Amino acid sequence: MNQYLNQSVQVLKGIGEETADILSEMKIETIQDLLEYFPYRYEDYRLRDLAEVQHDEKVTVEGKVHSEPSLVYYGRKKSKLTIRLLVGRYLIKVVFFNQPYLKNKIVMNETVTVTGKWDAHRQTITANGMQVGTNSKQHDFEPVYSLKGKLTTKGMRKFISLAFQQFGGFIEETLPESLLQKYRLLNRRECIKVMHFPQNQADLKQARRRLVYEEFLLFQLKMQGLRKFEREHSPGISQNYDLTRLNEFINSLPFPLTNAQKRVVNEVMTDMLSPYRMNRLLQGDVGSGKTVVAAIALYASLTAGFQGALMVPTEILAEQHAESLKQLLEPFHIKCELLTSSIKGKRRKEILQELADGDVDILIGTHALIQDEVSFQRLGLVITDEQHRFGVEQRRVLREKGESPDVLFMTATPIPRTLAITVFGEMDVSIIDEMPAGRKTIETYWAKPEMLERVLGFVEKELAKGHQAYIICPLIEESDKLDVQNAIDVHTALSHYFQNRYHVGLMHGRLSSEEKDAVMKAFSMNNVQVLVSTTVVEVGVNVPNATMMVIYDAERFGLSQLHQLRGRVGRGSDQSYCILLANPKSETGQERMRIMTETNDGFVLSEKDLELRGPGDFFGKKQSGIPEFKVADMVHDYRALETARNDAAVLIQSGYFWTSPEYSFLRKQLEDSGILEGEKLD
Ligand code: ADP
Ligand code: MG
Repeated sequence: MNQYLNQSVQVLKGIGEETADILSEMKIETIQDLLEYFPYRYEDYRLRDLAEVQHDEKVTVEGKVHSEPSLVYYGRKKSKLTIRLLVGRYLIKVVFFNQPYLKNKIVMNETVTVTGKWDAHRQTITANGMQVGTNSKQHDFEPVYSLKGKLTTKGMRKFISLAFQQFGGFIEETLPESLLQKYRLLNRRECIKVMHFPQNQADLKQARRRLVYEEFLLFQLKMQGLRKFEREHSPGISQNYDLTRLNEFINSLPFPLTNAQKRVVNEVMTDMLSPYRMNRLLQGDVGSGKTVVAAIALYASLTAGFQGALMVPTEILAEQHAESLKQLLEPFHIKCELLTSSIKGKRRKEILQELADGDVDILIGTHALIQDEVSFQRLGLVITDEQHRFGVEQRRVLREKGESPDVLFMTATPIPRTLAITVFGEMDVSIIDEMPAGRKTIETYWAKPEMLERVLGFVEKELAKGHQAYIICPLIEESDKLDVQNAIDVHTALSHYFQNRYHVGLMHGRLSSEEKDAVMKAFSMNNVQVLVSTTVVEVGVNVPNATMMVIYDAERFGLSQLHQLRGRVGRGSDQSYCILLANPKSETGQERMRIMTETNDGFVLSEKDLELRGPGDFFGKKQSGIPEFKVADMVHDYRALETARNDAAVLIQSGYFWTSPEYSFLRKQLEDSGILEGEKLD
């Protein structure tokens, strides 16, 4: 940024303290900020043939005045001015509300240009202004800015116009000539000009194309620069595992690994062997077999002489993981221990002592693992399951418990492939995109709420076979704002419905963790057959005997979340079912329900979800590491993102990038962002 553009917006005529304050709220402090505050849309003033204009569309037309104006007043200060206008071969009506002063400007047979909403049935435009003469002087497109306070579109256009006149000449190019030529991109100054003062759509498209590429390239350079930095500045341990013993272990598993599992195991092993610290994200749909990959990695670490840790978000999950890991690893004389906050007193002391002495090989637990009192003798590998439930800080603390242990984050939240690479750019990403053979797909149906009785009949049939069911509700208790089902009421109703036949349990986020555990235990031991719950059951719970899930008001959930919920069934050998009770009003809501019934593939669903909701909603607000782009859109400009990613990879690897003057601006951006000193992006 240079000194001219870096000046406060107050150097512009017309911007005083008050306006500067409003601009500041919009994060506009300097001339540069102002010039880079781009319109979020454009008013389209191109003349159109009325035959092609849809009813209710906004349109600009030019025509000859064909009647004397008629002006009617009604009420106080209200008026309606009507004229007839000959537009091409159409004779239409134009009305102006509350603009009586226009009357004097209207002259028979003169040409005027009006903009307004087209009523195709009445052949009428309701106009909010009129220009005498032809449209030729007016721009085809006028920018519309998102504004705050007393700012007006007109004012904003004026400020930006002033800024450009006075300081436009100081706008510097940020991209090297070679890239501009390679992609035939507009130069930066031209591009900013076009964004604010476009002449036509083609120019706009070109300007946008350049800005999108630039934003993505910079973003990718930061991510990949950070990754390179992390690699080079975080020497880890080279875990020299015993391949023979590892193969023995893998061959002892009750099933052959899927190809995807093999590939991922190889990726993880390569990282562990390397002297760099592993920083890898493992994505795999529910049931794709991540646990066994974790077990293999932990075993490998052990044969290299290290301890391992597995951290999960809930006690129930910790217990389940401890169980499965013990089953897999104890035959190989490996000591796995569980540590949660409910393990107290003497037992706790023992475990901690054994851990410090190196007698416990693998520790499984909740965030209890990262408390100060927990210390390992030689921690080599940390695995977290459902890592998005952990804050960045918690992950850091755990990582620092060893010398510099390898870290593997596992998640079943499917993030679209390329987006994952984008968002977790500073991590390596592995994906298990294949299900173990013979898995039955969960049959999913969409039912309207009035079919509830039949649905319950279906549930009852499953229960009669000795199976169990989840009933999911969006809310815990009644809300006067929302007309949706709540868990407490549904629990009461179903307890009554199934009374003397089945036990109905209730689970929601407001129960204490002891209460939650008690309910989950009762369900997993089949003391409770029907579990009414909010989405708290979403994470990793495993009750293979549950074959039925009913989701109330399913349209209120995103696709990814529905898929996570659905993943609670279909975990045993029996056919499972999921019924979506929903009456979505919107087109996309209906589309979501249809897609759910059509596919069981979490990645397909996540791509769809992203497409239907856009990246902002998809990730929820403020999830770490998701950048906000000014112009670019991760979904729609996806191909540009790919291009930028590849370019960034080449640049970061090339010595040329780090020295050539051509790249000095981009280099400076990387330096300013602090990532080359190892500061995190979030
Ligand atoms: P998730 O990825 O959801 O954590 P799990 O690791 O819990 O999945 O695995 C789900 C089930 O699949 C487990 O019962 C596991 O034993 C089984 N499984 C894992 N890998 C395979 C495989 N390659 N072949 C057959 N079954 C497998
Ligand atoms: Mg799992």
